Amino acid sequence: MPGRYAIGVDLGGTKIATGITDLSGNMVARRFVATDAASGEAVVIARIMRSIHDIIKEAKVSNEEVAGIGICCPGPLNPETGVVIFAPNLGWNHVPIVAHIVEEFGIPTYLENDANAAALAEKWFGAGRDVQSLLYVTVSTGVGGGIILNGDIYRGRNHMAGEIGHAIVQPEGGERCGCGQYGCLETIASGTAIGRRAREVVQAGGGQRMLELAGSSEAITARTVADAAADGDADAKAVLERAFLYLGTFIVNMLNVLNVEKIVIGGGVSKLGESLFVPVRRVVDDKMSDVPAKYTPIVPAETGDSVGILGAVGLVVKAEVRVG
Ligand SMILES: [Zn+2]
Repeated sequence: MPGRYAIGVDLGGTKIATGITDLSGNMVARRFVATDAASGEAVVIARIMRSIHDIIKEAKVSNEEVAGIGICCPGPLNPETGVVIFAPNLGWNHVPIVAHIVEEFGIPTYLENDANAAALAEKWFGAGRDVQSLLYVTVSTGVGGGIILNGDIYRGRNHMAGEIGHAIVQPEGGERCGCGQYGCLETIASGTAIGRRAREVVQAGGGQRMLELAGSSEAITARTVADAAADGDADAKAVLERAFLYLGTFIVNMLNVLNVEKIVIGGGVSKLGESLFVPVRRVVDDKMSDVPAKYTPIVPAETGDSVGILGAVGLVVKAEVRVG
């Protein structure tokens, strides 16, 4: 029977994760190899191809049984032409990755940036299964996002919709962001920003529980801050409150703009669980007037560490649904 499986490739700067699933996202096999980006573009492409060959073999399926191959990686990229425009962590510049894969396998292949793919993973296989619209927010070393409208990724005119990490939330006195602007959401609400703020507090003599837990101020991470806050450290609590005040306020703005059915939060910092969700929900409760959108569920992502593979698989499933 043709097209019963989908392959998802999560192409990162340090590792390539490849999975094969059925069209419901059930993982049949998965493998991880180092990206070895330093060896150059040709080596990385060869590694992707080898991973795909290996996983088809491991799953004991024929190429004809694979409905499609999805690839996700950091942007900017063009999903329509299948070209990665610029990926600093891979050292890539205008790489037509989809053309390479199609030439090798003769299987329909799709490309998407990782945050949009993650939003799609949640829509098809995660917390957004029951809705047609959602905002996916990933909070990890940076802040990113993806918008699902009418069941599909909303990309915008230049494929850059959902770049929520660079929404400016502190136009005056904000910190400089990697993008060159000041006061982006990412400079306040990311795991990196939370850790940096906490280190400043500790270096100024506060947050002693954070110092005890981490051993040194340099070793403090967002997790340390949450653990210290749970132990009652007032300075740690204040660091989290501040970060999540901005994150929550941004979500209020998005609810007012998009009125989606769900807000799904993923990424490493979301693993703090209630330490994140309780303050974020409280901010939404405080800052939204009593309109229906105020009661939009704000929930944790469900696809976990498989989010990249499942997002890439989602590209295939989405295409299949459209064809079917
Ligand atoms: Zn920025």
